[in-house]
Amino acid sequence: MLDGYVSRRLGSARILTRAELDDKRLSLLKDAVDYAVNNSRFYGERLKGAAFDSFESFSALPFTTPGEVAARGHDMLCVPARDIHRVVTLFTSGTTGTPKRIYFSEEELRLTEEYFSHGMAEFVTAGQKVLILFPGRSPDCLNELLTRAPLRIGVKSQVFGFPAPERYGEMLDTIIEGNFDFLAGPPEAVSGFARYLTDESLSHRLSGRMKGVLLAASCVTDKCVEEIRAALGCPVFEHYSMTETAYAGCVGCTVTPTCHIWESDLYYEIVEPESGLPVPPGETGEIVVTTLRKRAMPFIRYRTGDLCRLITQSCPCGSILRRLARVESRPDPKKFRRPEIRP
Ligand SMILES: [Zn+2]
Repeated sequence: MLDGYVSRRLGSARILTRAELDDKRLSLLKDAVDYAVNNSRFYGERLKGAAFDSFESFSALPFTTPGEVAARGHDMLCVPARDIHRVVTLFTSGTTGTPKRIYFSEEELRLTEEYFSHGMAEFVTAGQKVLILFPGRSPDCLNELLTRAPLRIGVKSQVFGFPAPERYGEMLDTIIEGNFDFLAGPPEAVSGFARYLTDESLSHRLSGRMKGVLLAASCVTDKCVEEIRAALGCPVFEHYSMTETAYAGCVGCTVTPTCHIWESDLYYEIVEPESGLPVPPGETGEIVVTTLRKRAMPFIRYRTGDLCRLITQSCPCGSILRRLARVESRPDPKKFRRPEIRP
């Protein structure tokens, strides 16, 4: 479970209770807002004088929107340009929209790598081998972080990249000849491969080999999960995240089809998309995220456009961490195929 890591990130050697966790998170929320107001032009203008003393009153603060990130992203920076280690450009709609640029410090990317290693430890064990199916190869890109993170827990990894359909045969050979037993990639990549195995009656070649699949970076449907499970003959796990949160987010539960929130570093709310007001507990709405520890480019009440439910009850797996149900829709499913740049 992620609970131990979350508690350690919050300074406790033992696992915190729900009440202790909430006390610390409220304190971190206040620190995050103070830091953003004091260090970024955008939040200095937007939130100066903003006060809150509860999660409920925090939800009255103004949102940050993707359009504002595109138009004023540079004003959201809290560190000088020399402390920016990587910039990722995301095109929000079509090819004519102004792109969003998301800035990361080196320390934030190292932390993401650490978070990935704890997340991967939920699904893989030492000695296993992970084949990674995300696109892109540049220093400290998602693939590099995902390749290095498993090494911390004794798991080997290799990038195959996003497989075009004509490479499915090569991918199958790579899995078998390289003794890979775990796949990590976008649902589109894995489900395409799963359909190829089914259509070509090749699933038997992986029989008993695969230990699991991790799907991340876009929406997953029940049908997609079932097709992958049937074709690859292994459990399917999920991860919810976005570039804005430095690829970190929520780690799939091994017992339920939900994802546990990395509550030491991220705060999620669910709001009604039209009114922006919080939805009743457990109802579907738009995910709004606040980064609690990001220092280069923090996000306060950032509207993701993703629709989902927040689950506050303790999980059957034993975790007390809050969970997101499966994301029901996401505005730009192709953004992970867009080009990335460095400063
Ligand atoms: Zn769970």
